[in-house]
Amino acid sequence: MSFVIKCIDCGHTAPYFPTSVSCPKCSSQWRQAEYDLETIAKSMPLQLPGRTFDLWRYRELLPVRNPNPVIRLGEGGTPLLQAVNLGMMLGCPNIFIKDERQGPTASFKDRQAAVTIAALKEAGITEMVAASTGNVAISYSAYAARASIKLWAFVTSLVPAVKMREIALYGSQVIKVTGSYDQAKQVAAEFARQRGLYLDMGARTITSIEAMKTIAFEICEQITMALGPTTTNNGKPRPAWRTPDWYIQSVSGGMGPLGIAKGFQELQKMNMIDRIPAIAPIQSEGCSPMVIAWKAGAETATPVTSPRTHIETLATGDPGRAYPLLRKWVVETNGTFESVSDEDAFRAMHVLAKMEGISAEPAAAVAFAGLFKLARAGVIKPTDVVVVNCTGHTMPAEPFVLGDNWSRNVVLPSRVMEETPQEGLLAALSRVAPDRFPNVAIVDDNPEVRRLIRRILQSQGEYKIFEAENGKEALKLIARELPDLIVLDLMMPEIDGFSVLDALRAKPETANIPVIVATAKELTADEKNRLKGQIQALMQKGDFLSDEFLEEVKSLIK
Ligand SMILES: *Cc1c(COP(=O)(O)O)cnc(C)c1O
Ligand SMILES: [Zn+2]
Repeated sequence: MSFVIKCIDCGHTAPYFPTSVSCPKCSSQWRQAEYDLETIAKSMPLQLPGRTFDLWRYRELLPVRNPNPVIRLGEGGTPLLQAVNLGMMLGCPNIFIKDERQGPTASFKDRQAAVTIAALKEAGITEMVAASTGNVAISYSAYAARASIKLWAFVTSLVPAVKMREIALYGSQVIKVTGSYDQAKQVAAEFARQRGLYLDMGARTITSIEAMKTIAFEICEQITMALGPTTTNNGKPRPAWRTPDWYIQSVSGGMGPLGIAKGFQELQKMNMIDRIPAIAPIQSEGCSPMVIAWKAGAETATPVTSPRTHIETLATGDPGRAYPLLRKWVVETNGTFESVSDEDAFRAMHVLAKMEGISAEPAAAVAFAGLFKLARAGVIKPTDVVVVNCTGHTMPAEPFVLGDNWSRNVVLPSRVMEETPQEGLLAALSRVAPDRFPNVAIVDDNPEVRRLIRRILQSQGEYKIFEAENGKEALKLIARELPDLIVLDLMMPEIDGFSVLDALRAKPETANIPVIVATAKELTADEKNRLKGQIQALMQKGDFLSDEFLEEVKSLIK
């Protein structure tokens, strides 16, 4: 491919060679690849229909001359999934998940490793050093194994043991550093310097930034497939692809969003999209130097020397120059930086798994907790098209995420089994599930809303659920089943929620059943008065998050 490496500080251009890590003129380590976009804009779109949907689909825009097919592992081309349940929960229907868990080692670091190792292989490099909070070393190890490159992986001692063992399994040498991630990086750099080995430079690695661009390319292609092309473009010719309104990602060193923003920008320069989405990097509160700087209006970030987060993957305390560079993108795109607590992230992990069937690692869940926060605050609007990067899979779920009591044990007494197998089994099972679950009636004329509420309830408890689609049916159902709790809509045809309440409260059998009103309607003062004393909780659809709703449910069912 034809490209040059351009220094972002002095503009000097040079040919690419992986071991040359600084500008020959001003020694800046911040340089990036530049392509002949005008020519590529003419040729690449014609090639795309005949190419496989993977990372190499956009090979004209990657810094590898002859990508070696032998070392590939099926990188890129991950699905873009619409999150219908999350969308309904948040009142933002267009939420999409870029499912980077589906990469070869289950994180988006696979793109970085695929392109970087391909470039190193092409340059004849056989040994390398990388510091990692886990996932980079796993991805590099897998690709290094295929390319017969020896990897020295420096990880902090807080990296979960399962991740360390995976690195070792691929044949890399694991070096555990008891200290912060920033310190592990220093040790790795010194080791590489002494031995004269290639060192991974994080967000300054040209191949890594270039690899991350492919996420932007895929998102635009996929969102166009899902929603159709942009409808208007202020009188100018309509671009071929569509852009989302938001790109949200959990961030540690910032390489992902830096590369992805560059990818969107290249598409814009090629007139394939008309704008770059608002970028929202999300950090873990206990290690959020970028967010702290952003909120203080500062252009540089003060390093966090001792990160206080369980989420080791995101423990970059000193973002260095990555912050001002990323800040520029966030300002230009009207995005924002945000942080969330570990608890918010673990809760988001449960919501994502239970509502969308997606098991993400805590670091990835940070982005979803950020989405919830921004949607609640109204920063993300109901009509916005949002893409959240689900950056990594939870390998085995770490124990503190689930707490105790996540399983129930069935121990079958072997002798009883032989004599009366049925009875033994039934006795054992009776300990697994109690006879009677709390009964909940969901009354709503919208079947989608009933389905959502049912999903939320079933996600975190055992309930027997009844549904009614109008007031008349609801009154019959409630009289018959006498549920422990009613979740009631107000706006229904014929008998509305207000009249249902009046009828229930008038009869002694139903007068005391707790009621949660879930409504999409803005209530007038008069209507609020009508509900006063009649109901136990009022929840606005669209802005109720499942955990708040569940808290209400649990407190009302005795
Ligand atoms: C590396 C990583 C991040 C943070 O990525 P950066 O873009 O480098 O800040 C987020 N989530 C997961 C799962 C990661 O492995
Ligand atoms: Zn320079």
